[in-house]
Amino acid sequence: REGRERGGGDASTSDARKANGAPTGAKREEIDRVRKSLPIYRAKDRLMEEIRKSETVIIIGETGSGKTTQIPQYVYEDMTLTNGLMIGVTQPRRVAAVSVSRRVADETGTAHGTLVGYAIRFEDVSSEETRIKFLTDGMLLREAVGDPLLSKYGVIMIDEAHERTLQTDFLLGTIKGVQRRRRESLGEDQYGRALPPLRVIVMSATLEASSFSKFFDGAPVIYSRGRTFPVEMFYTEEPEEDYLDAAMWTVLQVNEEEAAGDVLVFLTGQEEIESLGRMLREKASELPSNVLKLNVVLLFAALPPEEQMKVFEPTPLGTRKVVLATNIAETSLTINGIRYVVDSGLSKLRTHHPRSGVDELLVTPIAQSQAQQRAGRAGREAPGKCFRLYTEEIMPSLEKYVKPELLRTNLSGVVLQLKAMQVDDILSFPFIDPPPKEALLRSLELLYSLDALDDDGKLNDVGKKMARFPLEPMAARCVIAAEIEGCAIETLAVLSMLSTDSVFQFSREADGQKNVARHKLKRKEGDHLTLLRVFNEFSACSPKRSRDWCREHQINHRAMTKAVKINEQLTRAAMSQGINLTSCEDDFTLVLRSLVSGFFMNTASKEMDGSFKVFTTGQKLTIHPSSVMFQSPPETILFNELVRTNKMYARDVSSIKKSWLSELASKTFSRRSTN
Ligand code: ADP
Ligand code: MG
Repeated sequence: REGRERGGGDASTSDARKANGAPTGAKREEIDRVRKSLPIYRAKDRLMEEIRKSETVIIIGETGSGKTTQIPQYVYEDMTLTNGLMIGVTQPRRVAAVSVSRRVADETGTAHGTLVGYAIRFEDVSSEETRIKFLTDGMLLREAVGDPLLSKYGVIMIDEAHERTLQTDFLLGTIKGVQRRRRESLGEDQYGRALPPLRVIVMSATLEASSFSKFFDGAPVIYSRGRTFPVEMFYTEEPEEDYLDAAMWTVLQVNEEEAAGDVLVFLTGQEEIESLGRMLREKASELPSNVLKLNVVLLFAALPPEEQMKVFEPTPLGTRKVVLATNIAETSLTINGIRYVVDSGLSKLRTHHPRSGVDELLVTPIAQSQAQQRAGRAGREAPGKCFRLYTEEIMPSLEKYVKPELLRTNLSGVVLQLKAMQVDDILSFPFIDPPPKEALLRSLELLYSLDALDDDGKLNDVGKKMARFPLEPMAARCVIAAEIEGCAIETLAVLSMLSTDSVFQFSREADGQKNVARHKLKRKEGDHLTLLRVFNEFSACSPKRSRDWCREHQINHRAMTKAVKINEQLTRAAMSQGINLTSCEDDFTLVLRSLVSGFFMNTASKEMDGSFKVFTTGQKLTIHPSSVMFQSPPETILFNELVRTNKMYARDVSSIKKSWLSELASKTFSRRSTN
């Protein structure tokens, strides 16, 4: 039986990718064979029957069983479900939206961006022809602002719902409203035809489905059991002091002692993935000839798509693939051939400080459900092994499930969007897990102090402009201020630089070097204007010269290219809002003033002991060593991100004038004495 074969998928998939058009007969057959071997295929008839019967269904299936890649295709084949309208498939992660849509385009034998496409912030690869569209939850939410009936869609699939990201939860509530409106009102599509009801399919990889079903008024839950093999667990005896080092030795040991099969290592972020990558490649070059060659590949969100696709390439005989990944590989992407998992037990979580309004990226122990998912990746195709770089004793102390992001993050963006969708009474919005009332009220307060709301709590013109901007409220407010200050071009450049990954390259080994790079391009006012200078100097280079320039200055070329792209998008968004694209030439104070107009919550003053105290919250912090302000801290600072390691550090720091606060953020600072 075809369903019993395994492993053969790899070679065919990479071939299919090259096909980029209608695959030839043999390839077509191979793709079909692989598709039919996925667990979800066996459940297809039962699944489709349920989907036809109910407006909303919940599908639970093991990671890798084929939910994301197959179900949209099944649904597409049935015209009675789509009525010729689009299928929207949402993903919490941009990487997943891109990678999965490309895969589905391959499987359907169509060029990417035609039948199958995707849309993520700052990027749209879809067309009039597109019928299966993968998008981030945030993108669909934006569409719902402009089109409250989501009239282009016949079916919405909310994927990876178990991740419970802020946007997913927000989307669940919004979609419920859209469904009701489509049912009740006489909605029309763009051609004036009556809109059919909106079908919704919620997909999740974990069994915790009861809350989704309850939320959608008892929608049926369909379980598709995947096949899994036993995974043997190993723990460290003592807590690891340096888990990167431990990860490296574990990989080398697996390579020496274990049978063939690829390794997947879970780490927390780009910097450490790159540094373990270097460490392993170095070791790999000195391996004795009697062990498998190591082929190290990296996987994190900021990786360009071509690089991401490398993880899916089949492993040649005589080699062992080692994938170093963030939690992207936990449930969003499935890599075939993995037999061994090395789990750091950590992941980075964006956590919001409700009082300061600042988001902080924290390395946090994973939840038990994540540990289980990670281990499960080793047992998809054969019995596997999971090496946990933590002790067995700590397991019970881990959270059972990941706490929904909504309950630990900044709600002001969500509240702004709700207001833009004319949900005026945000306290009554159907949240699947309602956030604390105080958090919602605090977000309202922030929006009010950003001048986005009028005294009745309704969105005013500033607020409406902010809601249409693809940026968080505080950043969007900077753009609006920049128009008034007369430095929109420069402010957009700084915001683009803040929206990309770190452009300054540094390595763990050459730690002392990292400041050299930054200091060469340093501007005395601080990191924001230094970023602006980097942006401007990079933009002034010819494409050919830009690579050399990056090398000379230890700047990440890829991140810069991305910043330029984001800048183009933001500039276009600004123009479509009728914002005047003014330049301040070299009056850079204006840029800092615009930034303060939006990020005034992120300001602090120097204390006697040289540390800083945040004005609004009193929180203590220190300037991060990577900042150009580290050596000579000014009296008053603006900062853009907090990182907690042993201390609370502020990253991206600039010197500002205290008097600006009462001038530019009067709603927050007028009553305080800031002078
Ligand atoms: P689920 O959504 O249930 O987790 P998917 O639909 O993502 O499962 O994956 C189904 C299968 O498709 C997996 O075996 C996975 O490895 C394979 N797959 C997905 N993307 C690619 C790709 N780009 N190249 C090769 N195989 C892929
Ligand atoms: Mg999936």
